[in-house]
Amino acid sequence: MAGKLEGRTALVTGSTSGIGLAIALGFAGAGAKVMLNGFGSAAEIAKARAAVGAAMGVAEAPYSGADMSKPEEIRAMVKACEAELGACDILVNNAGIQFVAPVEEFPEDKFDRIIAINFTSNFHAIKAALPGMKARGFGRIVNVASAHGLVASPYKTAYVAAKHAVVGLTKSVALEIARGPVTCNAICPGFVRTPLAEAQVKPLAEKHGVSEDKALTDFLLERQPTKRWVEVEEVAEMALFLVGPNSGSINGSALSIDGGWTAQ
Ligand code: NAD
Repeated sequence: MAGKLEGRTALVTGSTSGIGLAIALGFAGAGAKVMLNGFGSAAEIAKARAAVGAAMGVAEAPYSGADMSKPEEIRAMVKACEAELGACDILVNNAGIQFVAPVEEFPEDKFDRIIAINFTSNFHAIKAALPGMKARGFGRIVNVASAHGLVASPYKTAYVAAKHAVVGLTKSVALEIARGPVTCNAICPGFVRTPLAEAQVKPLAEKHGVSEDKALTDFLLERQPTKRWVEVEEVAEMALFLVGPNSGSINGSALSIDGGWTAQ
């Protein structure tokens, strides 16, 4: 429904690429003013700002370069959103990274970084944005967790732990705010066609000595019964519903969009 976010403002972390960019485009297309965040080359960032800006009817969307591993930068990003857009009605915690290794070999700095970016950043952003949402009488928090927030895979200790923690944080925050005007939910996608996930295909092909197509269906998507990627637009559509006018009774949910992975 075009225009269902008219008058709303949104901050989407990790929105220079992949799922976050698709969510930002979806929100802007529905009438929201959106602040972007994330890393990338100057050209990639400019491209994302221009694309989301076009959907907003401006030359470029507002952008914060805040590093989600740095609490003070997260707080400044939320403040910048409130100052530049007038509010932060919608917060999507989406920024994330991946690293795969057996637990005995998992580099400690990589483990800490995944926990900081994929999980702790959600706490800092929610803590910073919630007071304004309550004061203005409306708020929507969407945390992009993962199927790995509900079930585990080997060699992804940091990622699985971080995403389970995101689901736990989501539930706890949702209970705290249940009687107010804000909701907090998690989205749990299976394997989505993005740079983060596509980067895992080649190493699997090399490890098993098979083609990348076979590595995708037989190994990466082993437990995704549809045997196809979830598309970013499918995740964006779910996020759009969660922040729209008819989602006020969805609170503390971890909504799967995983082709049946966690139905098994
Ligand atoms: P992506 O690599 O395309 O995008 C990740 C985004 O996060 C980018 O904009 C990147 O610049 C940003 N980012 C990374 N580190 C950052 C930091 N320190 N500070 C600020 N921004 C940072 O990946 P994606 O697949 O679109 O992933 C987005 C989210 O979806 C992640 O939380 C990921 O765990 C989750 N997810 C992805 C899949 C999948 O299969 N792709 C499945 C389930 C969940």
